[in-house]
Amino acid sequence: MIMNRFFLSSSLIAKKVIAENTLQIVLARPAGFSYIAGQFIQIQIPQTNGKILRSYSLSSSPDQADLELCVKLLPNGVGSVFFQRLNVGDQIEFFGPNGRFVINDSSSALAFIATGVGIAPIAGMIEDVLKNKKNPQSVYLLFGVRDTAHMFWTERLEILARQFSNFSFDITFSQPDMSWTGLSGRVINFIDKLASSADYYICGSGEMVKDVRSALLARGEPTNSIHFEIF
Ligand SMILES: Cc1cc2nc3c(=O)[nH]c(=O)nc-3n(C[C@H](O)[C@H](O)[C@H](O)COP(=O)(O)OP(=O)(O)OC[C@H]3O[C@@H](n4cnc5c(N)ncnc54)[C@H](O)[C@@H]3O)c2cc1C
Repeated sequence: MIMNRFFLSSSLIAKKVIAENTLQIVLARPAGFSYIAGQFIQIQIPQTNGKILRSYSLSSSPDQADLELCVKLLPNGVGSVFFQRLNVGDQIEFFGPNGRFVINDSSSALAFIATGVGIAPIAGMIEDVLKNKKNPQSVYLLFGVRDTAHMFWTERLEILARQFSNFSFDITFSQPDMSWTGLSGRVINFIDKLASSADYYICGSGEMVKDVRSALLARGEPTNSIHFEIF
């Protein structure tokens, strides 16, 4: 439980269901609040006997006017119930920004690997390197979701790919529908799509991060080129 710590106030601007059990949340950006793409905030969630914290990555890039989150709803989860009940205009309080899952300055190719809402910090990072930093090197995303019902932000990625010739992405479904004609299987099956000698940024479940990191190390990528965040 939280006692007295400095916190920031914000309010809910928009809330949208973007896939099964997945919300896109837009929060007003408090005056003077700055962050690095990939960082997260810790939201204070009121409980009957105090407040509890839940961490959520910022999926917006730092130049955007508002703050964006992407929240996976878990059955009866404290944060999940909080976001389900939150209405436009409601106030929230948070700490942050926190986290070191941010892009290192480097001229190497950038390879991002995300599953599910693990795309949240990575979406902000990709938009930041392409739109703001205007990095010229190759930027590639391998994005794994379960199936069509769990897919989101396809159009956002397609727009980026049309706008920036150095950006490309693949989506793979772990449990594809009959109609799906794209990649099928877990992201670990498509490690060969990741450029060699790149900087790798991985975000998702502990199991996925462990598998992808091990596969990259096994093919000789240096430890310090692999960065990750586990949800
Ligand atoms: C750095 C960081 C960044 C993150 N960024 C994101 C993000 O961008 N988006 C995102 O969705 N998540 C993110 N997370 C995860 C997030 O912080 C929460 O941990 C997650 O969303 C679950 O929170 P919750 O409060 O909804 O569920 P919790 O209350 O933590 O519960 C999790 C699950 O366990 C079950 N459960 C809880 N207690 C019990 C019990 N006693 N017995 C049996 N089952 C139980 C609940 O039903 C629920 O299904 C991030 C985490 C970290 C560390």
